[in-house]
Amino acid sequence: MLTHDIDRPYKTYQSIYYALTQPDRRAYHLSTLRPGVNPYWRFEDLMALEDDLGVRSACYVLDEQRLFRDRPVTEWLTMEGWQLFAGRYDPTDPEVRDALRALDDGGWEIGLHGSYESFDDPERLASEKETVESIVGHPVTGGRQHYLNLVTPDTWEHQRALGLRYDCSLGTSAEPGFHHGHGIRRPFGADDGFVVFPLTIMEQSIPDPGAEFDAAWATCEDLLREAREEGAVMSVLWHLRHLAPAEFPGHRRIYRKLIRRAQELGAWVGSPGAFYEEMDLGDTGNSAGASTDRSATDGSAAERSDATRGRTTHRTAPDPSEDR
Ligand SMILES: [Zn+2]
Repeated sequence: MLTHDIDRPYKTYQSIYYALTQPDRRAYHLSTLRPGVNPYWRFEDLMALEDDLGVRSACYVLDEQRLFRDRPVTEWLTMEGWQLFAGRYDPTDPEVRDALRALDDGGWEIGLHGSYESFDDPERLASEKETVESIVGHPVTGGRQHYLNLVTPDTWEHQRALGLRYDCSLGTSAEPGFHHGHGIRRPFGADDGFVVFPLTIMEQSIPDPGAEFDAAWATCEDLLREAREEGAVMSVLWHLRHLAPAEFPGHRRIYRKLIRRAQELGAWVGSPGAFYEEMDLGDTGNSAGASTDRSATDGSAAERSDATRGRTTHRTAPDPSEDR
C-alpha cells in the first residue's frame, strides 16, 4: 500500500535552516527562497509517476494549528514551535485545494493526516476531518497521525467514533520492517470493521538512497520478498517532498523501483482505502482473500493481548531536521 503524508508542500523556513546546517549546499538552499521556486510542491509529479505505473496511492492531508494565532507566545521562538507549526499550509487555499481535488478526481485517495496534538483531542481531530472532507466533498476513509503519535486504543477509538475505517499510524520512523506482524489488525476484535495497517517503511528509515542506493534498495527488496513469502500487507510512506530529486536524491527513483518490483512479484498495489474496499474489510462476516483472513486473525489476537496490557503511548519528539 502506497501512502504520502502531505506535511509541507511549501519550502519556507527550511531553506534558512538547511542553509545554516548544510554549509556545502548553502547556495542551493538559499536559491530555493526565490519567488516561484518551490521544490516541495510535487503533486503533479506524483500523479505523473504513479499514473505511468498504473497505480493510485493515498495522500493524507494535514490541517494543523498556526504558530502565531493558535500557539502560546512561549513557543514562538522555539525550534519545536517552528518545526511543528511555522511551516503550516492551509489545505483550503485555492492552490492546494485544486491539487487535492485533482488527485481525488483522478482516483487517488485523500485521507486525514491528524495534526501533532490531535491523537488525544477528538474535537480537534473532528474539525480537521471536516476540513479535509469539505475540500473533496465526501467522507474520508482513514489516514495517519502526524509523527505517528498514537495512544492505543484511545486514538483508534476517537478515529472510529468519527467514522474513520482504518488507521496507518502504528509503526516507527526508526527502523523499517514488519514490527507489528505481517497482517492487518482489528483493535476492536474480529467483528469490528475498524482496521489498522501497520507501517512497514518510512522513507527516512532506510539507508539514504542518495548516498547508498544499493543498500537502500536491498532493504526494500528484502521486505518485498518477506511480504510475498508471508502473504503480508506491506505499507510504505514517502513524504511528498521526498519526491524532489534535488532535495532528496535517490528517493523518487527508489519509490518507483519499489512499485515496479511489487508489481513484478504479483502484489496488489494501491491505497489503503482502495484495499479496504476491494478486500471488503468492513464486512467482518465475509473477509476476502486467504492471506487477509489469516493476517486479520493473527492481528486481532495480537492486538487484543496488547489491549489487556493497558494504554500504550507512541509519541515522537520533533526533530528539527525532519518533518514527519
Ligand atoms: Zn506528518
